[in-house]
Amino acid sequence: MKDSVIRQVETSASRTELDALADLLVDSSPQEILAEAVHCFPRMTFATGFGIEGCLLIDLIARSGLRIDVFTLDTGLLFPETYELWRRLESRYGLTIRGVRPEKTVAQQAAIFGDRLWERQPERCCGMRKVLPLREALAPFEAWVSAIRRDQTRERAGVRILEWDATFGLVKVNPLALWTSEQVWSFVRSNDVPFNLLHEQGYPSIGCVPCTSRVLSGEDPRAGRWRGREKKECGIHSRVESRAVSWNLERKETSHDVQAG
Ligand code: SF4
Repeated sequence: MKDSVIRQVETSASRTELDALADLLVDSSPQEILAEAVHCFPRMTFATGFGIEGCLLIDLIARSGLRIDVFTLDTGLLFPETYELWRRLESRYGLTIRGVRPEKTVAQQAAIFGDRLWERQPERCCGMRKVLPLREALAPFEAWVSAIRRDQTRERAGVRILEWDATFGLVKVNPLALWTSEQVWSFVRSNDVPFNLLHEQGYPSIGCVPCTSRVLSGEDPRAGRWRGREKKECGIHSRVESRAVSWNLERKETSHDVQAG
């Protein structure tokens, strides 16, 4: 039996519906969550930064044959190891990970705003190189997948498995919200998922070269991002109102038949 309803997300009723679906999925595996989410929101994309969690989700998406678009924000400032991982993942899983790039190259940005804008105005730099390109990339979709987990930072502690992303105006799916770092690494090792070699060299969280440094023993895993600054996020996981979207919230009774590998 199918229960099909059309909902406008901007109404409180539909957000309640989204919360209810999130509650239903709380004991589901990430693979089950992805399968159910893409069933409800067929126009779905995954924005990966190639962190360890992102590699795990690419593995699940590819091995399950889920029709989920995958892209990465290529700021032009990623580590060589990250570009190499990008190619390795595409080759391993036979999929295309689209590169979404800012309007301006690093050189063009420097010509207008001065060299190393990230040192003087990292919010502006992230805005131009990450947030704006992400906003444009997400516009055609009704839902996007993110690899964030609750225990990564205080700012992420409240994320739900499914939530309305008011910043970008679509549903956000966080299949790993309730997973720990240990669970992620155990899955990656067990399934031989490719990952960034920098993780084994003191970089638990990897972003752009100028804004990523090694983490010392005992430090927070994200301590190496924008070290010495208040900034903890690039601005793509915050919450502000934006556009509305409708979706076909169609559920099957036996929707939890996909098992995590
Ligand atoms: S992480 Fe740093 S270099 Fe990358 S876009 Fe943000 S401020 Fe710019």
